[in-house]
Amino acid sequence: MQRRRAAPVSMTCTTASPGQPVVQSIDVARVRRDTPGCEQVVHFNNAGASLTPAPALEAAMAHLRLETRIGGYEAAEEAQARHAAVYRSIAALLNASPEEIALSDSATRAWRLAFQSLPIPPGGKILTTRASYASNFIAFLHRARKDGLEIDIAPCNEAGDLDLEAFERRIDERVALIALTHIPTNGAAVYPAEAVGQIARKQGVPYLLDACQSAGQRPLDVTRIGCDMLSATGRKFLRGPRGTGFLYVRRAFLNRLEPPMPDLHSATWTAPDEYRPANDMRAFEMWESSMAMQLGLGAAVDYALDIGLDAIRSRVQALAARLRERLRALPGVCVRDTGTEQCGIVTFDMARAAAEEAKARLREQSMHVTVSLPSHTLLDAMERRLPPMVRASVHYYNTASEIDRFCEAISRISSRDA
Ligand SMILES: *Cc1c(COP(=O)(O)O)cnc(C)c1O
Repeated sequence: MQRRRAAPVSMTCTTASPGQPVVQSIDVARVRRDTPGCEQVVHFNNAGASLTPAPALEAAMAHLRLETRIGGYEAAEEAQARHAAVYRSIAALLNASPEEIALSDSATRAWRLAFQSLPIPPGGKILTTRASYASNFIAFLHRARKDGLEIDIAPCNEAGDLDLEAFERRIDERVALIALTHIPTNGAAVYPAEAVGQIARKQGVPYLLDACQSAGQRPLDVTRIGCDMLSATGRKFLRGPRGTGFLYVRRAFLNRLEPPMPDLHSATWTAPDEYRPANDMRAFEMWESSMAMQLGLGAAVDYALDIGLDAIRSRVQALAARLRERLRALPGVCVRDTGTEQCGIVTFDMARAAAEEAKARLREQSMHVTVSLPSHTLLDAMERRLPPMVRASVHYYNTASEIDRFCEAISRISSRDA
């Protein structure tokens, strides 16, 4: 069956010079019309939760209405084909196969299930970086205490990029897992997922990628990245509803895992003293889930695929670069982003206004950001001596004029004008 598509987004093609791939440009007016929230707010909190496009909202609402009309179980039966298409959409996003996808209610749950499923003997090491997301690192600490594991932090160079040679040198026979955060929650840096994948393959070490901030923001191809497991959330750059996420596990890697939460969906009770775990990705799901939200996620993924992830990445990077440039020109504003390759997340602080205060003042003007606290990425915050920062994260439906308005507001806040 064909992947189900949201209403097509019309696109114009820029003329490409010979030999260059044709870069699709985004019909911004159209995507803004599809995003009712654009009329109300300047939403620079896409790394927190993006504004959902109308087709994703409608897919979720239609199912909720169906549940109301005929009952939840009956609605699930009627939506079976559409629900199966959600797996195909996510697989298309990742260049994976639908059988390699499990749906989840968050990135953390998906990531955690993968992490907990991987047997690691006492004394085994987890190799990670200072960009680790708090929840992931808390899970490392939890298992370090419970199972006697060690955590090893690979260094970054002065530019803030991962030192790949040092990374590879740290691999010995005790390293049982490479756990990388593709894009940290607190800044622009894009970590070299593919180069790490090459090292992981060469050294034969399992590789778990947290793609929470990259999914929907840039192309992701699990065969090129070479990861064994990947997790992401629905609500961030993918623009799906809250309470959604997914896990990818490479087919040949699945039998290495022991999923920790079997229920009657992820296992079958076969005898009074026996059950049989599912031998596919259902092993990571539970029976109860929000089909409406998952259908919304599927529609959001289709929407992103229709626009094209290359086009999304280009526009997001261009908008973020403009935002950084404008902010750097403002006195008393310190842009904190590092990394040779940068994404749509922009972080900064101000000499004369605290991040929380700036967020509140912006909110009064219907401009949305969030505050990135040191405890969200503690290792990075300690190494770079980061204060609480304003995190402004742009998406392709944002505009240059929104950036200009935003920077005017920041200029007033930072100079403590009314
Ligand atoms: C937001 C985030 C998560 C957690 O996603 P949830 O859906 O809230 O569980 C994990 N990793 C990174 C890098 C994030 O930014």
